[in-house]
Amino acid sequence: MDKYAVLGNPVNHSRSPAIHAMFRDETGQDMEYGTLFCPLGSFRETADSFRSGGGRGLNITVPFKEDAFRYADTLTERAKTAGAVNTLRFNDDGTVLGDNTDGAGFIADLKRLKWPVSGKRVLVMGAGGAARGILMPLQEERPLMLFLANRTVSRAEALAREFPKIVAGSYEDLPSRGSFDLVINATSGSLSGTVPPLPDDIFAPGARAYDLMYTPSGMTVFLEWALSHGCCQVSDGLGMLVGQAKESFRLWRGVSPDSERVLKALREMLRAEA
Ligand code: NAP
Repeated sequence: MDKYAVLGNPVNHSRSPAIHAMFRDETGQDMEYGTLFCPLGSFRETADSFRSGGGRGLNITVPFKEDAFRYADTLTERAKTAGAVNTLRFNDDGTVLGDNTDGAGFIADLKRLKWPVSGKRVLVMGAGGAARGILMPLQEERPLMLFLANRTVSRAEALAREFPKIVAGSYEDLPSRGSFDLVINATSGSLSGTVPPLPDDIFAPGARAYDLMYTPSGMTVFLEWALSHGCCQVSDGLGMLVGQAKESFRLWRGVSPDSERVLKALREMLRAEA
């Protein structure tokens, strides 16, 4: 049976085994998918040993996405742009392909939600790995403008230099930038219950807010703040998580599972556990 796993540290909390088990059951693929704990500083040894034990592919989570980038023999364009790899495929000829499916998963979720980007004023908050992964696919959707704000402004400016049409700045710059149609939280602020310092009138009429973090209820502190400041529709990042998994599954198995059904089941699973 073909073996896959999610590699990380920590990794036990990962929902990827549950998602891929649902994909496998739906598509009838002969495969298993588990978790692989990796000691810090031992990425290469851990990945090599999984491969020599018959592993066919890995998902990579914190903090090894850059190690996986260096480990791959060839990289997809989107992995090169993201500077990080969340999916490795071990090819029959012994080579390793590195991909990054986070951005595709994010855009797929916006499409599921029927939230258009084209012609919209978009604000992305954060300049870490998650922000880096979504900027190129967001830009390809042709927003009217894309503003990148980060607590450490120099990080946002450095990131924006890689994307010619993106303007970067601080949260203090936002009042002079007007309102936005789509505000995306790619910071880890919600993890610690912190909402970035946004102006009260940040949302344009009909605006939407997306938090990359996910919770059982689908709400985060940022999304609650958004709803109380004139935002019309909100979503957490569970759909993105399922979307990136679907892209990995397709890369490995050549088939595309029904992610909408899996998202519903996963939400119910998280709610039941909460
Ligand atoms: P990261 O590389 O550590 O970057 C964290 C970012 O958050 C930085 O820009 C940091 O600003 C900012 N930040 C942290 N605390 C803040 C605060 N209190 N106020 C304002 N800004 C703050 O993290 P990451 O990997 O990009 O992940 C970011 C979020 O995306 C996490 O919640 C993660 O769970 C989520 N995520 C979700 C998915 C999914 O599939 N749904 C996939 C990937 C990531 P500084 O630069 O100033 O430190």
